[in-house]
This record gives sequence, structure tokens and C-alpha cells, in this order.
Amino acid sequence: MAEYLVGLVGRGIGPSLSPSLHEREATALGLRYRYRLLDLDVLGVPARGVGGLLVRALAEGYRGLNITHPCKQLVVEHLDSLSADAEAVGAVNTVVFDGGRAVGHNTDVTGFARAVRTGLAGAAQRRVVLLGAGGAGAAAGYALLAAGTSDLEVVDVDHGRAGALAGRLRRRFGERAARAVEAGAELGERLNGADGLVHATPTGMAGTPGTALRPELLRPPLWVADLVYRPLRTELLRAARARGCRTLDGGRMAVHQAADAFELFTGTPPDRCRMLRHFAEEASRAR
Ligand code: NAD
Repeated sequence: MAEYLVGLVGRGIGPSLSPSLHEREATALGLRYRYRLLDLDVLGVPARGVGGLLVRALAEGYRGLNITHPCKQLVVEHLDSLSADAEAVGAVNTVVFDGGRAVGHNTDVTGFARAVRTGLAGAAQRRVVLLGAGGAGAAAGYALLAAGTSDLEVVDVDHGRAGALAGRLRRRFGERAARAVEAGAELGERLNGADGLVHATPTGMAGTPGTALRPELLRPPLWVADLVYRPLRTELLRAARARGCRTLDGGRMAVHQAADAFELFTGTPPDRCRMLRHFAEEASRAR
């Protein structure tokens, strides 16, 4: 039986749950599968050296790689082709080696889309505020507009970044689809008429606790999706639930992006319910 060899390229990825998530699913499906961590710091490779890592992985027989911070954009120029999602977002989190060619995909887009479909089924999504215009925010914004959101307001402390993302999304989805909004006082006004809030800044992660906005601004019928998944129960989600808002944690996106990558690597559809269960177990153990 063939063995799938895959890896994760990024910085500070030691605590990543990806190896166990992928390998447990492969074992359950009877596949031989090894998932290695290719940590830039451990290997002594700078982020711009990601192209060299790709060449090495291909030569060593890797089936593919997941790519995370800070290489999701840097890797693009080293690829032979891109999926439509990856092309539109300008970032790649999954590379598949196919007959010597390196093909880039973005399963953050498909993973977030499925997380919303399954975790916020039936929720209105016409107007959404996106807080955080980095790589994860770009994937979420693209997924929302592709799924039917018609009015996306992008907020970032770096207003230029919000403007750049909104501009990119407008070019793909039309002039009225997205616009940048100043952080600060205007955020409360924007949330007032919105159906949902997607939080895509690192605030709330174990190393950077807190919330990126005042919890008083949250009130039903607004739903709140947090992309942060370490911890799963962030201060933002706790505050939103306490105020009666419907919520979606970052775990679902984490699992579905992994499941989509797994299927790209193996051609075998994983059991997503089992992966969600495994993720919950691993996440509670890692706390
Ligand atoms: P990034 O650094 O690329 O982008 C973060 C953006 O947030 C930056 O543009 C920054 O200026 C902005 N920002 C920071 N603090 C802010 C604040 N208080 N108000 C407004 N804007 C602010 O990071 P990223 O890769 O996009 O990741 C963001 C978060 O999403 C991280 O917590 C990451 O772990 C998470 N993430 C989750 C998944 C998942 O599967 N659930 C996938 C990818 C990333």
C-alpha cells in the first residue's frame, strides 16, 4: 500500500494539532500516512526560503504540504498553478505535488465556507462586518461573498490593509460588494445594521488575550464567528453568548480546512464528524 507523506511549513508550529488530526483520520480509514512538521525556526530557514523547501519536499517524495504563517503569500510565486480560490485570495495553504508540478489551493476558503454552512445554517448573511484583513480574513471574506453576502465591511487597525482587501474583493465580486470602514467609533454603527461579525484578528489567542472590540457592541440578532481556535472558547465568544448572540468557533474552520486538504492529498473523502470529534479531544488535551 502506498504511503502518503505530507508536511506543514510555517513558523512556531510545534504545538500544531494538524499532525494528529490528519494521522488519526488516515489510520481510521486504513491509509498509511505520515504528517511532518517543517518548522522554519527549527530548520533555520527564512520565510522567503519556502521555495527551497518545496523543491526538497518534492525530491523526498512528499505528496503535498500545508502552508501556514508566514508563508501563505510567499509560496505563491513558487507554484506551477493555482486553484481559482487561491488565485482570487492571493494566498495558498495547501500545495499538492502532481506529476512533478506544484499546485496551490486555499482550503481556508472552502473550510470557512463549510463551517458557516454547517455551524450557522439558516443565519442571515447579507451584511457582514469582517474584523481583520490578514490572510484568514481574506479567505473568510472571499468565502462569504462567494456564498451570497452582498455587503461586506472590512475593518482593520491597519486601514490600508482593509482598503487593499476590500479593493481586491470588489474587483472579483463587483463595486458594491465590499468596502473598508475605519476601526473605532464607526464600528458600533456598522454592527448595528449587520447580520454577522467575523473576527479574524489574533486577539483572544492564548498569547494575546482580550477582545478586539467592546463586548457591549454585540447584541442579537447579530451572529459572531471567531476564527481564533486556540482557545476554542475565546473571550469574544463568551461575551457574545452571554449577550444572546448565535456563535461559531474557529474549530470548525480548522477541521474543515484540514479535511479539505486531506482529501486533496489522498483523493479519499474523510469522515468530517470523526475529525470534529478528534479535534475536540485534542484541543481539550492541549489546553
Ligand atoms: P494576520 O496577522 O495575517 O492578520 C491579522 C490582521 O488583524 C492584521 O491585518 C492586523 O492589522 C489586524 N488586527 C490586529 N489587531 C486588530 C484589532 N484590534 N482590530 C482590528 N484589526 C486588528 O493573521 P491571520 O493569519 O489572518 O490570522 C488571524 C487569526 O485567524 C489568528 O488567530 C489565526 O490563528 C486564525 N486562523 C484561524 C484559522 C482556522 O482554521 N480557524 C485559519 C487561519 C487563521
